[in-house]
Amino acid sequence: MRYSQYYIPTLREIPAEAEIDSHKLMLRAGMIRKAAAGMYSFLPLAYRVLQKITKIVEEEMDRAGGLQVLLPIVQPADIWHQTGRWDVYGDEMFRLQDRHKRDFCLGPTHEEMITTLVKNEVRSYRELPLRLYQIQNKYRDEIRPRYGVMRAREFIMKDLYSFDRDEEGLNRSYEAMYEAYTRIFTRLGLKFRAVEADSGAIGGDVSHEFMVLAPSGESVILYCEECAYAANNEKASAALPVKVEEAFLPIEQVHTPEQTTVPAVTAYLGVEPSKLVKTLFYQVGEELVAVLVRGDDELNEIKLGNLFNQPYRLAPPEEVAERLDLPVGYVGPVGLREKEVKIIADLRIKTMVNVVCGANRRDYHLRNVNLERDFSVDTFADLRLAKAGDPCPHCQQPLQETRGVEVGHIFKLGTKYSSALRAHFRDEQGEEKPFIMGCYGIGVSRIVAAAIEQNNDQDGIKWPVPIAPFQVLILPINSEQLATAEEIYQQLRAAGVEVLLDDREERAGVKFKDADLIGIPLRITVGPKGLAQGEVEVKVRMTGEELRWPLAEVTSQVLAFLQENTPEAK
Ligand SMILES: [Zn+2]
Repeated sequence: MRYSQYYIPTLREIPAEAEIDSHKLMLRAGMIRKAAAGMYSFLPLAYRVLQKITKIVEEEMDRAGGLQVLLPIVQPADIWHQTGRWDVYGDEMFRLQDRHKRDFCLGPTHEEMITTLVKNEVRSYRELPLRLYQIQNKYRDEIRPRYGVMRAREFIMKDLYSFDRDEEGLNRSYEAMYEAYTRIFTRLGLKFRAVEADSGAIGGDVSHEFMVLAPSGESVILYCEECAYAANNEKASAALPVKVEEAFLPIEQVHTPEQTTVPAVTAYLGVEPSKLVKTLFYQVGEELVAVLVRGDDELNEIKLGNLFNQPYRLAPPEEVAERLDLPVGYVGPVGLREKEVKIIADLRIKTMVNVVCGANRRDYHLRNVNLERDFSVDTFADLRLAKAGDPCPHCQQPLQETRGVEVGHIFKLGTKYSSALRAHFRDEQGEEKPFIMGCYGIGVSRIVAAAIEQNNDQDGIKWPVPIAPFQVLILPINSEQLATAEEIYQQLRAAGVEVLLDDREERAGVKFKDADLIGIPLRITVGPKGLAQGEVEVKVRMTGEELRWPLAEVTSQVLAFLQENTPEAK
């Protein structure tokens, strides 16, 4: 491709609207332009990247037994009413009506649509397993679309749905997808990790997220270097500490005037925050529920929400004070039973002895409080936010922390959608059974941004070879080298290399700046100095390495470089 005939409208200024590197660089490199909040046009350079990602995703989905389909983006409301998600989705769903005033939505996801399709088509266990996938636009009306295509309202997604006759089949489908995803992100040339994840609103009990590692990533990942454990921090847990070996001391009431926070109380009493029990209140339905965590721990509201399984909110201390007649800042578990409050506690509470907590009396705390002797708990659960340094739940080694961008998510759904939509097949005994389902997403357009977040510097993008819009950029310093540059261009093209020849009548400085910005993996500079010695100057964008190649070797060197930098999946 000749640059002069291509369209790459690069910008020198950093666009004010962009907050993160990938958004800035995609605008500056002339890859995207905003059409409306969270809606972007992909220009030619970006479209080439999208196509490369798409091709690898399709190859691996097909390899894993996926069959590609294309379902309507506009979906009728009635199938969403049947699963109850028409209401659950709330304002995040783009809704519209046709001329007959019938309700539709723009698909945020396709569980309802695909389950209805399979329900009407597949009758017998003999037709299973079935793995159907598509790559198309999805729509979510984000309250705050931002970060360019990273959190857009219209985005491109690959979604595969598996239909199996039993749990074993689902496990096989899930494993096939896990392996396919590992192959995809390896082949894309990205550093990534698969982590245990919370299943959230979509339902199901087992799920993994695939994260492209990047310091700017929105997700925090905790992982173990000793074993394979890795989880996002919404889901991560840690090994429990050993129970403190201490005799129970007599309970004591201590005067703590004006000391209402964990740091204040512990400093005032000269104890570690790990010796204190924090009592929080949540409103669950109409009820107030007390939640206990260790003084130095943070409550993980996602874990708490999974336990409640219904809408809940943190109750402000003033509201608790009024409803239960308790003093703000001095609440504790002892005597809460009399208020008929249900008590939920983090597992670590079990390991604590002789703790400090609020006395449920203004300006007083209790010392040497002990579980079972002084208070009891209705439900124990893992409720704390795990953090770096915590012992690994599998092998006790300290967990490490890194950040990532979520680009894939795989779920075991079970019968959540097939039951709701009455999607049944006949098994060997002729009995009607709901399909056992899984769903498996990849944010195709998001991968473009994630790849840039992982691979950039102050000058621009550094594309990994497998998804680079072009593999080689040829840059003649001035028009006198154009003929030689043209020769190299033709040779490389004949060898099947994707080449961009910068034949613009621009100053060399401008061309170098654009080359760094758009980030083509190999830049071949054809200049008077090199040519005098029969050589070209080569810069590897990813590493900054500079090389000199004899003219006669250019093609073989390029092919060797491309092969070396195209990772193969095992
Ligand atoms: Zn471990």
